Amino acid sequence: MLIDIKNVSYTYETNTRPIKALDNIDLQINKGEFICVLGPSGCGKSTLLKVIAGYIKPTTGSCLMHGETITGPDWHRGVVFQSPTLYPWMSVRRNVEFGPRMKGLSPEDVKRIANRFLEQVELIDYSEKATFELSGGMKQRVALARALANEPEVILMDEPFGALDALTRVNMQNFIRKIWKKNNSTIFMITHDIDEAMSLGTRVVVMSKSPGKILKEFNVDFTYAAIENKHGRVRIDEEYMNIKEQILDLISK
Ligand code: ADP
Ligand code: MG
Repeated sequence: MLIDIKNVSYTYETNTRPIKALDNIDLQINKGEFICVLGPSGCGKSTLLKVIAGYIKPTTGSCLMHGETITGPDWHRGVVFQSPTLYPWMSVRRNVEFGPRMKGLSPEDVKRIANRFLEQVELIDYSEKATFELSGGMKQRVALARALANEPEVILMDEPFGALDALTRVNMQNFIRKIWKKNNSTIFMITHDIDEAMSLGTRVVVMSKSPGKILKEFNVDFTYAAIENKHGRVRIDEEYMNIKEQILDLISK
């Protein structure tokens, strides 16, 4: 087990009234898993990700990594947001090299790591471009390469493909699946797209409307069929439809 979220509740204190965003979340993230979290807008998904990232501390309960309380952000947990937060004045390469450089790695190691992940996201030919010159999907790939370059133990993604058009989105899904497989990564991804969750995840976690509770978890294996398929497509069979129906029922409650 990598991360253990135990009885986590979170309440935002505001000027008017407290807002309870998370209610007793229990969730374990194991090495190598691809967890996809689904839930209605405002149910607390981003709050949960912020707790895991270490940006905020649970109001009650605890969030542990390797048995130790998460006390703040660190590079063992890489975060990718919906709108990539790149340094626009730096080249693609510089953005990806940023983490390894900050760690004080040798110039050769920095270069080797950057090349490896720039190749994985197929941006090696764009290395010297400034990031403001890139399309949305390419920017998101830079953000992904930058997170990967830190060689984090888990990648946390908050609706990373939400702002992309449908075709780019499918391409990105295929990218992330391949990268997850190739690097044996552990991924925790928030999405509001049921098919995205089912076609990428090894586990789909469904949350209730606010305050967010976990309603149900589904272990799924459709992503493996998509790895085998040359177009990265899942097989929409009876089992798939059945699970999708169950998730729709849970979410529309
Ligand atoms: P989701 O990502 O599922 O859409 P969020 O985690 O962003 O949901 O938000 C959960 C709830 O907490 C919502 O009711 C939201 O309005 C509230 N909330 C989120 N961030 C803040 C904040 N900084 N201050 C006060 N309330 C917040
Ligand atoms: Mg959110």
